[in-house]
Amino acid sequence: MITMDLLTSSAADIVTQIKKGYVSTEEYIAKIFDHIKKVESNVHAYISLNDLAIERAREVDSAVKRGEKLGKLAGIAIAVKDNICTSNMKTTCASKILEHYIPPYNATVIEMLEREGAIIIGKTNLDEFAMGTTTEFSRFKETRNPWDIERVPGGSSGGSAASLAAGETTLALGSDTGGSIRCPASFCSVVGLKPTYGLVSRFGLVSFANSLELIGPMCRSVYDTALMLNCITGRDSMDHTTLDVDTKDYTATITQGVKGLKIGLVREMISDVDEHVSKTIHDAASKFESLGANLNEVSIDSLQYALASYYTIAMAEASSNLARYDGVRYGIDMGPEGFEWNSYYTKVRSNFGDVVKRRIIIGTYVLSSGYYGKYYLKAQKVRTLIKQEFASLFKTYDLLIAPTMPILPFKIGEKTMDPLHMYMTDIDTVAANLIGIPSISIPCAFTDGLPIGLQIMGDHLSEELLIRAAYAFEEITDVKKVIV
Ligand code: GLN
Repeated sequence: MITMDLLTSSAADIVTQIKKGYVSTEEYIAKIFDHIKKVESNVHAYISLNDLAIERAREVDSAVKRGEKLGKLAGIAIAVKDNICTSNMKTTCASKILEHYIPPYNATVIEMLEREGAIIIGKTNLDEFAMGTTTEFSRFKETRNPWDIERVPGGSSGGSAASLAAGETTLALGSDTGGSIRCPASFCSVVGLKPTYGLVSRFGLVSFANSLELIGPMCRSVYDTALMLNCITGRDSMDHTTLDVDTKDYTATITQGVKGLKIGLVREMISDVDEHVSKTIHDAASKFESLGANLNEVSIDSLQYALASYYTIAMAEASSNLARYDGVRYGIDMGPEGFEWNSYYTKVRSNFGDVVKRRIIIGTYVLSSGYYGKYYLKAQKVRTLIKQEFASLFKTYDLLIAPTMPILPFKIGEKTMDPLHMYMTDIDTVAANLIGIPSISIPCAFTDGLPIGLQIMGDHLSEELLIRAAYAFEEITDVKKVIV
């Protein structure tokens, strides 16, 4: 047996040692569970834990002993956001309406990761139905930022990000509709990637806004992110929005650096941000220059409308997606017998939290006749304009950089009463979702003990380039990613 810190090591290192038989998967998984027991009363990252994880770990150890061929993530612990379906475990979306729901099937990404030997250790907390930026709007618990437990971890994949930063898992999955992977990655000082729309299957992701969202990896290193992405891409006959592209090995080109690449620093995304954030991102830009990239400031005029367009479209899609929770086909069964339909429907749907209700109401409004053209259609037109502006920039630039979040992780409760201000914190992340391009957030620096994330965006299917640039930056940047 070798000595390595199993709570903080990378998946790449742990899997190598497991395969050699130098690390016992059972001991490793047990160690993670012990640690979860120790820190969860502070962090509150998980909604449920997987009782079968230890058994799965033993299976991996036996396979190692028998000399069987093992998957790319054999034995590796993975935390899964609780809006991704798992057939043996509850999938609640942190909502009362799905509190007891156990899906009859696994999401495609779960099937793929399990096929590679990954072990789901638990389901992580989120804002109800992934609607939020702080994880405060979970109906079960408030996840805290491991770097300062008075502060929010970001959201909506806050449980996944916090579990990584607190050493409660080795890998995690999140979903990103308007920034929900990247925001918590930034606030918790971990890596989070929202892939190109269609690169990863959404089958089994509980829908919030289908045209915007995707599942993606959250990790403590860029290399692990590449490793995980290798396992989850590809065409899926269960999701017809997936792209028919060859699967790649994203680790193969990871060390190729950024020399000669043209990188644009997006002016609109860096103006009006916290001064620490601004300084940090300008410093990051200089680092890319020192690595041999050509850097320029660029401007994207239509970005001023991105937030309005995003929230109009996201709420419209949410109102239609969430209509299925009627307490008969989907959602909590409250005994429809004896009820007239409208009153039963109302009773069931009163289980939604205020944030979700607000979005359903606004979303229904912007889709209703007489208002549709003024709001929904207009938002879609703006979306096209943004897409065109980005496309013309990508003719010249290989990558674009910006802050992930305009502000530092703030205090729990600070913005809960002010939805508009909360929405505004998504200003730098929503564009990538509106136009379907990949975007990664990587740890950039700490200021006054709080993390700042750097966002790197590229054209459709440029994940290889994104990962290369992120890796080159990580190599010359010493930022903490875990606190145990
Ligand atoms: N914060 C954004 C929202 O509340 C994004 C959420 C997400 O990406 N799931 O809509």
